[in-house]
Amino acid sequence: MEKTIITDKFNRPLRDLRISVIDRCNFRCQYCMPADQFGPDFEFLPRSALLTYEEIERLAKIFVRLGVKKIRLTGGEPLLRRDLPILIEKLAAIEGLSDIGLTTNGVLLPKLAAKLKEAGLKRVNISLDSLDDELFGKINGRGIGTGPVLEGIQAAKDAGLGVKLNMVVKKGLNDQDIIPMAKFCKEKGLELRYIEYMDVGSTNGWKMDDVVTKKEIYEMLKAEFELEPVDPAYYGEVAKHYRYKGTDANVGFITSVSESFCSSCTRARLSANGQIFTCLFNGNGQDLRNFMRNGASDQQISGRIAEIWNGRNDRYSDERTAETNKNRKKIEMSYIGG
Ligand code: SAM
Ligand code: SF4
Ligand code: SF4
Repeated sequence: MEKTIITDKFNRPLRDLRISVIDRCNFRCQYCMPADQFGPDFEFLPRSALLTYEEIERLAKIFVRLGVKKIRLTGGEPLLRRDLPILIEKLAAIEGLSDIGLTTNGVLLPKLAAKLKEAGLKRVNISLDSLDDELFGKINGRGIGTGPVLEGIQAAKDAGLGVKLNMVVKKGLNDQDIIPMAKFCKEKGLELRYIEYMDVGSTNGWKMDDVVTKKEIYEMLKAEFELEPVDPAYYGEVAKHYRYKGTDANVGFITSVSESFCSSCTRARLSANGQIFTCLFNGNGQDLRNFMRNGASDQQISGRIAEIWNGRNDRYSDERTAETNKNRKKIEMSYIGG
């Protein structure tokens, strides 16, 4: 099949694909899967509903022919999906795909980091919102201290994987950890990215007042460190980067709320059960799994994806107001993938 470049209604190409491999998680982070909403009775997807690795590989190849260069595996907690290195190996063999990433809470990395690296994974983003055991346990809703995540970070480094850390900052919860996390990462030579708390889904009770903006974080950092801006590495790069002057160490910001970046958003998302979402804030996805299971050819699947992407006019973060947040049905991040 020929390579085709597709664009949406705002002329944005399709470049990135985030694939959620599972909707389950071993954490219950209060900003993502609050424990009172994702309790023991919560119905997760049955195994038969999940795309198989063969199905993911097939779709990934079609997406690559439509312009995707980067794939990120996410969830839920992607390392809970059995034999994930097998999927990495399949994806790493796809011609034309220049990068595969993985976002994880890190707890299972001591067991899996070396196998993931061997399978072809180059780098991981690990989420860590606090260095304080008690607070971290409260945030992750499971009372798990920082130890297992720190061990995961070390295991990833030992395996030779590139490591970046993600920290979601919520006002009044972990803003006091902004500087300690910066110091920790600078010392360890890890890039830290501060993520503005977002109104994904409808279970986390998001309020604009809970957001600590990039500007606020930057001012705090500037009081401690000398920073200089770094040019974006490529079109559509999500994080805005700064360098600690006189070092090679960077710090980044994901400013989804205060400085939206919809105009260069080239990301599609594939949920664990094979629905495509063209924006993190969509209410519904569009099915690819049943289409594929009912016998669609690669050509037909490609045609369907192109049609969906050509019709895309999403720019939720550009348009966000208190009203859009309240009145819009939005899919949960643990289902669609961060
Ligand atoms: N379980 C993995 C993890 O936590 O890294 C991967 C999935 S998680 C949904 C992906 C990323 O989304 C994590 O870095 C997480 O902190 C972030 N995230 C989840 N809910 C968020 C929210 N409401 N606002 C901003 N980031 C959020
Ligand atoms: Fe799980 Fe990641 Fe969501 Fe936390 S942010 S509940 S680790 S999926
Ligand atoms: Fe992309 Fe939607 Fe986020 Fe805008 S709000 S950057 S269109 S995912």
